Parts: sequence; C-alpha cells; structure tokens
Amino acid sequence: SLTAGIVGLPNVGKSTLFNAITNAGAEMANYPFATIDPNVGMVEVPDKRLDRIQELIPAKKVVPTTFEFTDIAGIVKGASKGEGLGNQFLENIRQVDAIVHVVRAFDDDNITHVSGKIDPIEDIETINLELGLADLDAVNKRLAKVERAAKGSDKEAKAELAVLQKIKPVLEAGGAVRSLDFDEEEQKIVKGLFLLTSKPVLYVANIAEDDMADPEHSKYFKSIQDYAAKEGAEAIGVAAEAEEEIAELDDDEKADFLEAEGVEEPGLNRLIRASYHLLGLETFFTAGGKETRAWTYKTGTKAPQAAGIIHSDFERGFIRAEVMAFDDLDKYKTEAAVKEAGKLRVEGKDYVMQDGDIVEFRFNV
Ligand code: GDP
Repeated sequence: SLTAGIVGLPNVGKSTLFNAITNAGAEMANYPFATIDPNVGMVEVPDKRLDRIQELIPAKKVVPTTFEFTDIAGIVKGASKGEGLGNQFLENIRQVDAIVHVVRAFDDDNITHVSGKIDPIEDIETINLELGLADLDAVNKRLAKVERAAKGSDKEAKAELAVLQKIKPVLEAGGAVRSLDFDEEEQKIVKGLFLLTSKPVLYVANIAEDDMADPEHSKYFKSIQDYAAKEGAEAIGVAAEAEEEIAELDDDEKADFLEAEGVEEPGLNRLIRASYHLLGLETFFTAGGKETRAWTYKTGTKAPQAAGIIHSDFERGFIRAEVMAFDDLDKYKTEAAVKEAGKLRVEGKDYVMQDGDIVEFRFNV
C-alpha cells in the first residue's frame, strides 16, 4: 500500500505529529495489516460523508478507510554525504510515495533548534538541498552510463539522456524535479529514476497552539505557503503538541477542547486528508446491509479494479456497477429518490471511479 513519509530537521515536532496520527488510529490496533514496525502507523481517514450515509442508509457498523504514515528520523545538513546516518534516511525517503515535510513554526525557548534560530524557509531549504544533492548524485551516475549507450542507436538511452539533461540543471540550481513539467513518455522515465525531489510534497508548518484556530495568522505561515506554491505544493498549519493532546481525549472531551480553541475539527484531520490526496488516493463507499464502508482506490481506477479491492471475485466476475454520487444521496435522501431523479447510474467495465461514488457491484460467482 502507499505510504506518506514524515520528513524534517531534528526537533521540529515530527515524532509528536506521528504520535498524534497513530494515537488517532489506535482504536484500530487489531487491523489485520497492522505492522510491527514502530515507524509505520495506520491512520483512519476522517470523512463526514460516512456518517451522513450511515444516517440515511443505516447499517450495523461503519468502517472508515485507512492508509499508512512512516516516521523518518531527522535529516541533518550533510545527509547526502552520509552525515548523521544520512544515507539510511535518504534510503527511507526513497521508499515512501509522498513526503510530508514538517517545519518548525513555533517559538519556544525551551526547545532547542538545531541551527539556533527559527527560520522555516532556511530549514526547508536545508532539507531540500540534501534531497537535491542526493538526486544530483544519482542523475550524474546515471548520465555516465546512459551517455555511452546513447551514442549508438539505443532509442531508450537517447530518451533517458534527454530527460536527465533536462533535470540536471534544475537540481544544480537547487530546484526540485517536481517543479518540472514532463510529458507522459518523460514521466515514465522519471518514475524509473526514483528521485527524492520528484515525490509529491506537503509542507506542514508546526505552528503555536495560539494560532491553531487561524493557522494563516501565524507569523511564519505565509512564507512557508509562498515557498510551497512556487513548487506547486500545498502548505498547512498544524499545532503538533496540541494535536497530540487532542488525539488522546475521548469524544466529549475532544469536542470541548476544540470548542475552547475555536476550531471545528482537529488540524490532524486536515493533515490526514491532504496527505491522502497527495498520494493520489480517493474514496468510494458501499452502503446498506452489514456495513457502511469507505474504500480507498488510486485516482483513475476503473470499476472492475475497484470491485477487486473489496474481493478478487468481484473483479473476476464483474458485470456492472450501480453508482450514485454521494452528493445526490445527500440531496435526495433515499436510494429510491435518487433513482426517481434519474441519478442512479449503471456503469460498465470502462467506468473510471469518482471520489464519493456509492457503489453496488454486480458480479457472477
Ligand atoms: P522530532 O525530533 O522532529 O521528532 O521532534 P519531537 O516531536 O520530538 O519534538 C521536539 C520537541 O519539541 C519536543 O520536546 C516536543 O514536545 C516539542 N514540540 C513539538 N511540537 C511542539 C509544538 O507545537 N509547540 C511546542 N511549544 N513544542 C513542541
């Protein structure tokens, strides 16, 4: 399954955030795929649509969908040269599908900062420089091989050479591979290079609890958001320590705490949803009968493969999918009324799943 890796300098709040995330998912400790790796945590995707579906089409239980976070130890300056277990950290990042880059955006004289001052952009650049240097190293090694092969009639080598030559100057200038545009052909080649700066990234500003109700109000947030925007990335503000406390509360206490802070939902929920989208994941639902349930699929998945996520038999014997959009159920309130309005669709094997689809698969056994 896909995993989002939490990355950042030491002491910026990564573990605090990871604890908050895994605590929020602690009730599902007996999840069948629960892993014994302490650095990997399953998290439930908070989704209000599930509650609404359950309200309209009650089932015995409600099952949210889940995905994985990996906590990656702090990166230090020089990591690309092997400093501070650098190579191992970079290798761990290579294994994840998206990067959640945590940056300190709170003042607290009691918490040491590795470089002695709070400067989120400098912190981000320190990490991105190490990732970029590691990529440049990989690109240069690859170039040495491909240049030779491209001299002959090797078409693939020529195509790869062109991509490497497009990437190299960007890395040399301190940029990220993700900031480049690639056509479909090039994208395939880039994927095969497993470059760190080609992974999608979400910047998470670890803001002061005082700024929780209005993260944009944090004096550090705007600059982080601007930096992210230049890469075409998103930034969100979360108060890690407060989130860790919230995650430990029961539902009533949680509601009180959030009300006192003046926020509608834990910032963690926003972080989880943003990471989910970053990974290119979407949700469809099944309803009625035993359970109301959310399922995760990759954007672009077709109906038979989505059916296969529930059970391989569903994919093998796929006949059709009966689909209504969540928004239609929400509006018309019953399946019958959705049907009456002409909004209950019958879809075949080429149907591309849409986020929020409520589906009943028909299949041969
Ligand atoms: P990591 O090295 O990035 O994993 O950082 P930790 O999660 O261990 O946090 C480093 C220190 O900063 C710990 O003492 C945390 O309690 C503290 N810390 C983390 N988040 C916050 C926060 O939002 N506000 C404040 N004031 N302290 C925090």
